[in-house]
Amino acid sequence: MSAINAFLPCISALLTEASDDLSAASESPRLDAELLLAFVLQVPRSYLFSHPEKQPGKEAFAIFRDLVSRRGSGEPVAYITGRREFWSLDLVVNRHTLIPRPDTETLVANALDLIADDREPSILDLGTGSGAIALALAHERPDATVTATDTSAEAIALARYNGQRLAIGNIRFVRGNWFGAVPGQQFDLIVSNPPYVAANDPHLERADIRFEPIDALAAGSDGLDSIRHIVNAAPAFLRPGGWLAIEHGDRQGASVTRLLTGAGFEAVATVADLGGRDRVGCGRAIRADT
Ligand code: GLN
Repeated sequence: MSAINAFLPCISALLTEASDDLSAASESPRLDAELLLAFVLQVPRSYLFSHPEKQPGKEAFAIFRDLVSRRGSGEPVAYITGRREFWSLDLVVNRHTLIPRPDTETLVANALDLIADDREPSILDLGTGSGAIALALAHERPDATVTATDTSAEAIALARYNGQRLAIGNIRFVRGNWFGAVPGQQFDLIVSNPPYVAANDPHLERADIRFEPIDALAAGSDGLDSIRHIVNAAPAFLRPGGWLAIEHGDRQGASVTRLLTGAGFEAVATVADLGGRDRVGCGRAIRADT
C-alpha cells in the first residue's frame, strides 16, 4: 500500500499549505496545522517530522481540510482536538471551560513556592474550569489535599473526569459559587484564575476568544469584580499564615496589590509571567503569633 498517489499531497505539503491558509486567523499557523494533522492521523507530532513524504489517505485529507477551515474561522485548536497540555498534564477540554493558558503556569509555580515548606497543605482552587491549576498542584504535591470548585456543573464534571483520567487522587471537586462551595472551611493556600477581563474590552471580540465561556473571562466594568470578591472574602477561609495567590490581567498588578493590602494581607507581592507581564498577586493572611 505504499504506492505514491500523484493526486494526494504528502504530509509536508499539507502542512505548508494549511499553515499558509491559517496565517491570517492564527498567531501560530504552523503549530496549529501540525496539531490538527497529528490529531487526524492519531499520531504524535514527531511522526509528522519523521515521515514528511507520507501521503495520508483521502478520508484523512478531507477531515484535515475541514478542521483547518474550522480553525480558519476562529475555533481554537484545543476545542477542535478536545485536548490541551498544561503543566505537562494532558487535559481534556471543552467549550464549558476556558482553555488553560501558559500564563497560568506562573500561578502554579508561584503557588508551589508559597507552600514549599508546608507538609500536607490543604489547597483550595476557586473556579477550577478544566481542573488545570488544581490538578497540577495535586500532581506536584501528592501530600496535599486539594479542593477544586466551580459554579458550573459542566466544568466540575470535566475537571473530575480529568482527575480520573490522570489518576490524581488527592483532589475533590465541589460545585458552588466561589466560597459558597466550602462553607466554614479553612485552607493553607487559596488559588484562583477568576475572570478578570473588563466587560467592554475589545480583546473579548477576538475570533478564538469568542468561543470561550464569557463567564470565565469577563468580570464587570473594570474586570476586577471577581478578584475583589475573592480577595475580600478569602481571609475568613485561610488558616493564620495561609496564602492567597490570584491570577490577574497585565495592567491590574497595582489594583490587586491595593486590594490585598486593604483586605489585611501581609507580604503582598506581584509576580510576572514568562513574558515579563504582571500576572499573579499574592499575600499572606495575618499570622496568629504576630
Ligand atoms: N488571560 C486570559 C485572556 O486574556 C483571560 C483569563 C481570565 O480571565 N482568567 O484571554
